[in-house]
Amino acid sequence: MSDRPDFDPSTLVIHSNRSYEKQSNSILFPIHQTATYIHESVGVTKGYGYTRGANPTVNALEQAIAAVEGTASALCFRSGMSAITTLCFGLLKAGDHVLLSDVIYGGTARLFHQVLGHFGVAYDFVDTASVEATEKAIRPETRLLFLETPANPTLKISDVRALSDMAHRHENILVAVDNTFLTPLLQNCLELGADISMMSTTKYIDGHNATLGGSLATHDEANTERLRFVRKIIGSIQAPFDSWLALQGIKTLPARLAMHCNHAMQIAEWLEKHAHVARVNYPGLESFPQHALAAKQQKGFGGMMSFELKATTEQTLHFIEALKLCTCAESLGSVETLVTHPATASHCDMPLEERDRLGITDRLIRLSVGLESPKDLIADLEQAFKAIFG
Ligand SMILES: *Cc1c(COP(=O)(O)O)cnc(C)c1O
Repeated sequence: MSDRPDFDPSTLVIHSNRSYEKQSNSILFPIHQTATYIHESVGVTKGYGYTRGANPTVNALEQAIAAVEGTASALCFRSGMSAITTLCFGLLKAGDHVLLSDVIYGGTARLFHQVLGHFGVAYDFVDTASVEATEKAIRPETRLLFLETPANPTLKISDVRALSDMAHRHENILVAVDNTFLTPLLQNCLELGADISMMSTTKYIDGHNATLGGSLATHDEANTERLRFVRKIIGSIQAPFDSWLALQGIKTLPARLAMHCNHAMQIAEWLEKHAHVARVNYPGLESFPQHALAAKQQKGFGGMMSFELKATTEQTLHFIEALKLCTCAESLGSVETLVTHPATASHCDMPLEERDRLGITDRLIRLSVGLESPKDLIADLEQAFKAIFG
């Protein structure tokens, strides 16, 4: 286990690295912007040999992430996608079968369709909101159940504990969860029984749209070492400067998440009552079909939602363009409120019937609620409604 003191996560994200730089006593952990490290005598280092293997600044961020995950260690990667890629390269081989949530980040689906499938990894997308349907899809070769909950962009929830219990009754199935939307502070997937927690740290961990990054954490030391080894082979470690920036971001994660949850709830309630809104997907709303499950497994409902207008696709696109404060840009989880159109962005290569079946319609708008005043955000949404519907 790690030797970090027994503080709450909100303290640990600020103080997980108390090894001050000795020359000046600078309060911030330094950026070790270096490719390599001097050998004291041939083959003798201080544990750092080459930055593709490990770097002190990356390690500092890993300690902060481990603190919120509740693990002894964590691994950081160049992007969320490189974390998922390293996970698959490290723990799968040709002939293995993977089950994935049917509503999932577009990049994850593309990794399987365009890359891993070519390497002989079999996979199926399944409705992981149903434990029964998921269990039926298991094959003797199934080695990984990869969940995303809440899922992008419909916020569909999968029951991590029930699915983990079910998967672990079968032999040799690891359960991994993409926890990007909530982070362990709002949903601790490892406590819920999953084997591996994955995040795109680009989103809430950084929080300021400054870096790309990803993380993996598991209680299984052998898998941690295997993934660390594969990360070194394929070169997917995060760059020191990016780790340093994310290390500043994670210090305010607890404070930001509390505000994201609060603002999102206000906006979801306002949208739900709006005459021009057909449907709001926000797990915090009582009307959300899986509200009870979300309330049970999550410690908060997060800052992400999606909604459909009572409008045509064209009007929907005009509505997005009419927004002035809410910014149309990919990504999520930052201080800025971001709006996207999943059908033409993250899920553009999914066939139309498939998208419609999963609720990712041409009229669906995704909103990542930021830290601006909810009053100003609501005023912006209202002026866009007026611009489209008069
Ligand atoms: C953004 C995102 C990813 C990919 O992360 P990158 O840092 O962009 O590579 C994976 N999963 C989810 C849910 C995401 O939102």
